[in-house]
Amino acid sequence: MSQYVEYNWKANDEKHVWHSMKPYNPEATFIVERAEGAWLTDIDGNKYLDAMAGLWCTNIGYGRKEIADTAYEQMLKNSYTPLTNGHTPAILLSQKISELLGDEYVVFYSNSGSEANEVAFKVARQYHQQKGDTNRYKIISRYRAYHGSSMGALAATGQAQRKYKYEPLAPGFLHVAPPDQYRNPEEAVNGDAKTLPSVKNIDQVMTWEMSETIAAVIMEPIITGGGVIVPNEDYLKGVKEVCEKHGALLIVDEVICGFGRTGTAFGFQNYGIKPDIVTMAKGLTSAYMPLSATAIRREIYEQFVANGDYEFFRHINTFGGSPVACAVALKNIEIMERENLFEQSVVLGESLKRTLKENLEDYPFVGDIRGKGLLIGIELVENKETKTPLDVERVNAVIAYCKKKGVIIGKNGVTVANFNNILTLSPPLSISLEEKDLIANTVIEAVNSIK
Ligand code: PLP
Repeated sequence: MSQYVEYNWKANDEKHVWHSMKPYNPEATFIVERAEGAWLTDIDGNKYLDAMAGLWCTNIGYGRKEIADTAYEQMLKNSYTPLTNGHTPAILLSQKISELLGDEYVVFYSNSGSEANEVAFKVARQYHQQKGDTNRYKIISRYRAYHGSSMGALAATGQAQRKYKYEPLAPGFLHVAPPDQYRNPEEAVNGDAKTLPSVKNIDQVMTWEMSETIAAVIMEPIITGGGVIVPNEDYLKGVKEVCEKHGALLIVDEVICGFGRTGTAFGFQNYGIKPDIVTMAKGLTSAYMPLSATAIRREIYEQFVANGDYEFFRHINTFGGSPVACAVALKNIEIMERENLFEQSVVLGESLKRTLKENLEDYPFVGDIRGKGLLIGIELVENKETKTPLDVERVNAVIAYCKKKGVIIGKNGVTVANFNNILTLSPPLSISLEEKDLIANTVIEAVNSIK
């Protein structure tokens, strides 16, 4: 680039870059030049507090030198070995993941959350085959949940608006109702998971579809992108029991909930269950490197080992589990543990939620404020009695107001028609008390501006 010609970033962005999910919009799109801690600086020098941690992923914040040093050193030491062989960072990371999961798991690596879920589906289907249970192929997930963009993960996604232009997707995926306590008060009754409508629904679907055709259920502990839908405390236990009754595996998608987002290493640990398969990405490296993992209970893995080379898991990807990405993930987890970021997520999350509730709960357009740890959703409604979702234009206006004040917040993406009404907060777990207060004050002010 010549020093005499000013490079036009915006024009060339519009000309050459196809942005995710939306058309290029010079008003709304900003081009980031630097990022440090929880703050982004764009090419015009504007600063923004990133209360979404990118796409719910930069858990330790941006610009950590320790991570850069780790990647640099690992690149010089060993930049690449495929996992058909082995390398030291993958061994150490897998051991660490098992330790955090609290049981013996064997870990398969990929590059994205979508791929981690594809691996989980393939493992589940083949596992049943290896056992001679050859009719089990159906995968059940919930409406409103997002599980990724590839054909299987999108088929598992319960958001029709993301899917209908690309169908037919992978066959064999079924959907059940989400455990929405706000819109269905029966979901909020504690004590007996078997009586929760959402648990009964899964049990019925498995019976109606024939138990012997069901391979697995996949669910996030808390539906995140679909609107921060926090289930009843008993829900996951109920689902696990239903899976056991029908012989299906339980896959827990921890792509967002994992690594402290909900205050524990993994979201399922809030609910006292042990999944068969756990998928993770995002917070695994805080997005410093692309890396995802599918952790499979050792007992399931052993079904593959017993069948020798030709019945083994026929899946490979070139970049998954690269030594550099694994070394970065290890350092990222070390930082989270050293700085007590999981505990921090509980303390800051509770405080943020409390402030929002104290200031917004009685506000006419606020239906519900919910979440766990630093994962918070604010459901906006037209009317508190009817719970009619607020129109997307006014929801977008709240987000634009926050951006104007220098705080980036999100909303549940394109979900089921008409439900684009939930504001989302998911900042880095490393934010300071002052940054937490800035998020709270800005959101309160923005919501108060709704007319
Ligand atoms: N699962 C969940 C719960 C997600 O939120 C996402 C992405 O947002 C994915 C899977 C897919 O992850 P990726 O975008 O890395 O493919």
